[in-house]
Amino acid sequence: MKDVRVRFAPSPTGYLHIGGLRTALYNYLFARNNGGKFVLRIEDTDQTRFVEGAIENLIKALHWSGVKYDEGVFVEDGKVVQRGEYGPYIQSERLDIYRKYVDELIDKGHAYYCFCSKERLDSLREEQKIKGLVPKYDGFCRNIPLDEAKERIAKGEEYVVRLKLPHDYDIKFHDMVRGDIVINTDDIDDQVLLKSDGFPTYHMAVVVDDHLMEISHIVRGEEWLPSTPKHVYLYEAFGWEKPTYVHLPTVLNKDRKKLSKRQGDVSVEDFKAKGYLPEGLVNYLALVGWSPEDNQEILSMEDLVEKFSFERVSKTGGIFDKDKLDWVNSHYIRTSPVERITELAIPYLIDAELIDEKFAEENPNWLNLMVKTVQESLDIVGEISEKVEFLFKDSVDIEEEDALEIIKGEHVSTVLDAIVDELNTVEQVDEDYAKGFMKLIQKATGVKGKNLFMPARVALTGMAHGPEFVNVLVLLGKENIIKRIKYVKEKYI
Ligand code: GLU
Repeated sequence: MKDVRVRFAPSPTGYLHIGGLRTALYNYLFARNNGGKFVLRIEDTDQTRFVEGAIENLIKALHWSGVKYDEGVFVEDGKVVQRGEYGPYIQSERLDIYRKYVDELIDKGHAYYCFCSKERLDSLREEQKIKGLVPKYDGFCRNIPLDEAKERIAKGEEYVVRLKLPHDYDIKFHDMVRGDIVINTDDIDDQVLLKSDGFPTYHMAVVVDDHLMEISHIVRGEEWLPSTPKHVYLYEAFGWEKPTYVHLPTVLNKDRKKLSKRQGDVSVEDFKAKGYLPEGLVNYLALVGWSPEDNQEILSMEDLVEKFSFERVSKTGGIFDKDKLDWVNSHYIRTSPVERITELAIPYLIDAELIDEKFAEENPNWLNLMVKTVQESLDIVGEISEKVEFLFKDSVDIEEEDALEIIKGEHVSTVLDAIVDELNTVEQVDEDYAKGFMKLIQKATGVKGKNLFMPARVALTGMAHGPEFVNVLVLLGKENIIKRIKYVKEKYI
């Protein structure tokens, strides 16, 4: 087999769609799994879609996700740079190359100049629509002699270059997911290859680049499948060896519609901002349209590299299930070092005005203990504020039915008074003291078990169930515990 070389070739439209990240990921896994190279190429030939900073954003998102490539476009010290022997890797810097190959096609009779005006093409399309036909160029300029076309160009007439497809010819190719595909040229348009602004179209540029960059496998979303016959024909027209095609099922939402920005989060940046971990997002995305033979669901990048194969990519769309994503992500939160989650959590806590930067700097241990206390219950880091909000108040209200019942129970006053009395004998609540604390209250009151613990928990947290109580005691500290008990006694008992 030829050396494996794959590429991810996004158009810099401003953000990285999670479907795009999955395409990049599968390319990466395949390259790693086969000792190949993975290239990042930027396809920016549609200048009307140019977005400032889009290349940098895209690369940042890829970098965050841990999907690494070997060659192509990188950002170093905030600047876009290119590395590799097949550059440039940004299509707008390759215009001369495309021009040369367009000329070659014209010379070989596989392409022709077309002078049709926008008005003519619009009315042609309109007419075809009325007749119920699929809109298609009618070949008006196909037979203009080359000399005549060149004269018209010399006189300054605007033109495009179109692919000259033969009539009734079967274009055949094999797709690793879809199998053998045959399309007749009568069902395809004479595709524009070079636009009037001198830029190639996607179809021209993608074929030239994939060939010159020696790409062995084209791994991309199935939305590009209808374009593939045109590309295959171009390889034939040039006499180039065809790559292997792999078209991936679209990432769909639960209604089986394409995930679109209108329905909410679709960009990698959105998921990052919500507090998903890169390992969680990548692990889950790998499973959207693919599964390993053993159906294992928690997979590190190393596991994915080892187990990934195109044979197990499904033909039907992959459903993006947010609940499952959350479940996978919660695994990575749970198993991360607490310091990492704390660092990620701090901006959310500041945003929610629970803490400020100074507090974060001065209380690293307290914050780590707090995060450790709720870490198990987080699906995403962004949930941290709602989980720990109760710690930042002087008092908590009791709203849950079962909690209200507990606080109205027997011995509650005795227990709460004993807690205050006991606390008044110490300076502060450290971890060791907190561990033995309820034992002291038991001794002082003779109350045991549920009757001892539940009122204490409800009075301090407002909830009948919740995080590790010893940690809550340490986190709240002496003064706050006393304040809370005072409030609860006045309001509920
Ligand atoms: N530039 C195309 C995109 O934006 C790439 C399609 C391909 O991989 O051929 O997705």
